[in-house]
Amino acid sequence: MRASEALLKGSKMIRWVMGTQNDLSGGGCALGMMARVHGLERLNFCDDPLFTSVEEYQWMHTASPPLACNCLGSVLLGSGGDFNPRELLESRVAYQLVHLFNYHVMTEKDWTIEQLSKWLDIVDPSPLEKVVVEETQEQEELVAV
Ligand SMILES: [Zn+2]
Repeated sequence: MRASEALLKGSKMIRWVMGTQNDLSGGGCALGMMARVHGLERLNFCDDPLFTSVEEYQWMHTASPPLACNCLGSVLLGSGGDFNPRELLESRVAYQLVHLFNYHVMTEKDWTIEQLSKWLDIVDPSPLEKVVVEETQEQEELVAV
């Protein structure tokens, strides 16, 4: 299952809470939503061995697209630090997902969960299974003509 699909599916399974993947009372953030779809308590988003990794989402730790918003400074991570948070976020999609959910979906409310899922789909380098199906159907139609 693509990460974007897991996010949407999970968003209907748990209560939306920012800042935690699992608040132990049925709530969690975007990563928590994806985790729950896979029957997990939490999803690996950094290199912490306490978190479980889902093989098909490993790209979220290596893909580093530019950040989709213009935020700077402490809003990026909740609390400021003596480093460049924007540079850190741009190093991995998992961090960006945390910011986009916590800040844009939950705090500013200028992104919807559907927009977040669409963004996740765009930055996801995994092959699209759907495209293959559509191509096959198109080929069948051509043969029929
Ligand atoms: Zn932002």
